[in-house]
Amino acid sequence: MARYTGAVCRQCRREKLKLFLKGDRCYTDKCAFERRSFAPGQHGQARVRKVSDYAIQLREKQKVRRMYGIMEGQFRQYYKRAASDKGVTGEKLLQYLERRLDNVIYRSGFADSRNQARQLVKHNHFLVNGKKVNVPSFLVTPADEISLREKSRKIEAIVDSLEAVARRGVPTWLELDKDGFKTTVKSQPERQEITMPIQEQLIVELYSK
Ligand code: SF4
Repeated sequence: MARYTGAVCRQCRREKLKLFLKGDRCYTDKCAFERRSFAPGQHGQARVRKVSDYAIQLREKQKVRRMYGIMEGQFRQYYKRAASDKGVTGEKLLQYLERRLDNVIYRSGFADSRNQARQLVKHNHFLVNGKKVNVPSFLVTPADEISLREKSRKIEAIVDSLEAVARRGVPTWLELDKDGFKTTVKSQPERQEITMPIQEQLIVELYSK
């Protein structure tokens, strides 16, 4: 599965927003965005020109795509599915992104970034309803139970991340049982529970041109 392998912090600087892609480091003064909050490259600090609607829509799409660590092709597939579903397309799109297994692992606190969550899923550390699932894009549904395998419960990175879960908080559509090393999907994710600054309507406008 393709994934972005370039400089991670550069993406935050490009989007002019902290995307929290590097776990704990993002909360320290080592955060590259805290030190250089302008776009990377030779023209990063150039005077801001008038930007077109298209450029604004494109930036919003890139920002969300980078937040969730998804390549263009797969992101567009989510949009197509969202557009053919009943309901508000932008919200449906965000629901697909939130329901990804790697995101659920991250949002439940088992990992301190989506990237780390993806690695953990790929290395077979989690079960969904008691069965091994090692596909980060697996979509969870209400009543699914995601648990950490017995033999993985001493992995330092996971234990440390669970210790720090209070700082990030767990959304109400997930129920974390920290001592049982499992999380249950209570419902579909609601729009108001996605607290990152996202204007999904701009993405819909971009793709529906
Ligand atoms: Fe972004 Fe985190 Fe890097 Fe800061 S440390 S620039 S928030 S990825």
